[in-house]
Amino acid sequence: MAAGEKKKVIIIGAGPAGLTAAYELLDKSEDYQVVVLEESGCFGGISRTVEYHGNRMDMGGHRFFSKVPEVNAWWEKMLPTQGAPSRDDKMLHRTSSLKSGGPDPEQTDRVMLRRNRLSRIFFKNKFFDYPVSLKPETIRNMGFGTTMEVGFSYLASAVHKRPENSLEDFYINRFGKKLYSMFFEHYTENLWGRHPSEISPEWGAQRVKGLSINAILKDIFGKAFHKKRSG
Ligand SMILES: Cc1cc2nc3c(=O)[nH]c(=O)nc-3n(C[C@H](O)[C@H](O)[C@H](O)COP(=O)(O)OP(=O)(O)OC[C@H]3O[C@@H](n4cnc5c(N)ncnc54)[C@H](O)[C@@H]3O)c2cc1C
Repeated sequence: MAAGEKKKVIIIGAGPAGLTAAYELLDKSEDYQVVVLEESGCFGGISRTVEYHGNRMDMGGHRFFSKVPEVNAWWEKMLPTQGAPSRDDKMLHRTSSLKSGGPDPEQTDRVMLRRNRLSRIFFKNKFFDYPVSLKPETIRNMGFGTTMEVGFSYLASAVHKRPENSLEDFYINRFGKKLYSMFFEHYTENLWGRHPSEISPEWGAQRVKGLSINAILKDIFGKAFHKKRSG
């Protein structure tokens, strides 16, 4: 390589990881010439925003959340936190915590909007909490028959644990086959583009930390016990 010539870097994929890597290389040094190769023809990977009938939406509801201060600082630099209410905040009389001095979303697009998190699964024309919670509404939505099936399939998987070779085994061992087929199988396949039987079980341990039927039951009975004591 001749003196002064830049090193060529090829990055495959213009999703958040590829774009961040390209940005960081160009930001930190003048020594690189960066080329990002993207097969789909659009930026953003599975986090991308698409336009549909004049509305802009993500491929799946995305919110940004991180416990890592460096990552938060990076994003604050890219998209500073909302400092004034947006049109929908006003229409819905929503009071979200705003950052003093932050940008006004009605004036600029370079702004990270603050939103309360609400994730639900739309299944058989009903909304279910995500992560799934066992509350009377969930049981009402599922119906008595399905709730019984869920209960028995959970008991079956509690008695006969599968060897955990895939994410499918991981979910079935913790939730039973019925609940897995209702809420996790297709969701996971849509989310990651792979069937859970092809994904490693460690992935599940990372994604659904603390989420299990035991944790849900503990939560329900814990609350009921607490209510009784304080009532
Ligand atoms: C429904 C849904 C909801 C989500 N919600 C959240 C959320 O709320 N918060 C959050 O932090 N994360 C969320 N995620 C996860 C987040 O979208 C991903 O973690 C993130 O997009 C991963 O970024 P990435 O760049 O690693 O990969 P990807 O986004 O998958 O990007 C990879 C890119 O590489 C391209 N590519 C792949 N192979 C090649 C090749 N051989 N040649 C050229 N190009 C190639 C692809 O076309 C794609 O554009 C969600 C994901 C989905 C689907």
